[in-house]
Amino acid sequence: MRYRRKNEKVVTAEQKERLAALYRDRGTCSFDEPLAAHTTFRIGGPADVYLVPADEEQLAETVRLLTELNVRCTLLGNGSNVLVADEGIRGAVLKLEDKPGRMEFTEGPDGSVRAEVSAGTSLSGFAREACERGLAAMEYATGIPGTVGGGIVMNAGAYGGEIRDTLTEVTVLTKEGEIVTLPAEELKLSYRYSVIPERGYIVLCAVFTLVPGDREAIRAKVLELSAKRRDKQPLEYPSAGSTFKRPEGYFAGKLIEDAGLRGYTVGGAQVSEKHCGFVINKGGATCADVKALIRDVQRIVFENSGVELEPEVKFLS
Ligand SMILES: Cc1cc2nc3c(=O)[nH]c(=O)nc-3n(C[C@H](O)[C@H](O)[C@H](O)COP(=O)(O)OP(=O)(O)OC[C@H]3O[C@@H](n4cnc5c(N)ncnc54)[C@H](O)[C@@H]3O)c2cc1C
Repeated sequence: MRYRRKNEKVVTAEQKERLAALYRDRGTCSFDEPLAAHTTFRIGGPADVYLVPADEEQLAETVRLLTELNVRCTLLGNGSNVLVADEGIRGAVLKLEDKPGRMEFTEGPDGSVRAEVSAGTSLSGFAREACERGLAAMEYATGIPGTVGGGIVMNAGAYGGEIRDTLTEVTVLTKEGEIVTLPAEELKLSYRYSVIPERGYIVLCAVFTLVPGDREAIRAKVLELSAKRRDKQPLEYPSAGSTFKRPEGYFAGKLIEDAGLRGYTVGGAQVSEKHCGFVINKGGATCADVKALIRDVQRIVFENSGVELEPEVKFLS
């Protein structure tokens, strides 16, 4: 039986019909869609309504209709930084991922390149394309398995690079249904933070300003970073990447290892033996397993080192 919170609204048959009608000819609309299939953790119960708009126009129409129908809306990119509740998500889940995505590279008079990218484009796909073109400063992102939109929300970063280094402009759909283009500074990007969730923006597309670099050096760096990931990260298991934010002056993985938690297991969830900063799904892990494990790790690390670990992964319910 599906768990429902007290007073929680159910999506009615009539609301479902209106949504299905909007998706009759294009996009994807399904009901009771298991979200485990749409997250890299392979965890998560069903979404009442699951919608994948075909383009920006359908996305805007969907948001208008959800507002009119008063149906709750949760955004999902590639689902690579989220932990979805075992009970799933009530209301609609709007999946913002387009394959192969839209990227336009335009060279400016000063030699810099303006790259305009749709939010649903794969971040690693965009970064790889930029590197192929000999554009520098995106090497760090070639192994990050999210979308460009999700990357901007999290100010994704690795190996000394991050989204805010090259992002110059973002176009968003506001809660009021307006499409607005903002300079990147307005998003107040900092370590794994942006104002996007609290303002209720939906990222539609982004402009990055890139400069040409040494092609050979770029290629070598991409290879080096990808070997590093393969060596150090448990890529063979489902996960959401680093489970905890890096506490100032420390590394989460090292604190967890020092607390004796390498391989610590709750149900199907485990502190990776390969990299203690990752919680992995060893098979059949539930959201409850991962949450219990996260709580245990936070408590034991705090007892051992006095450092409070804050989850990086976002909980969706
Ligand atoms: C193996 C592995 C390695 C990883 N390595 C890294 C790494 O090196 N560095 C790093 O920073 N992260 C890393 N991650 C985490 C993750 O890939 C990034 O945080 C990524 O940017 C998340 O993008 P996503 O599209 O999957 O977003 P999701 O996980 O789907 O969503 C994240 C948040 O963004 C919101 N959101 C998504 N799209 C939009 C949009 N268009 N508009 C508004 N809100 C939106 C969602 O509602 C959610 O709150 C890793 C994950 C894995 C599994």
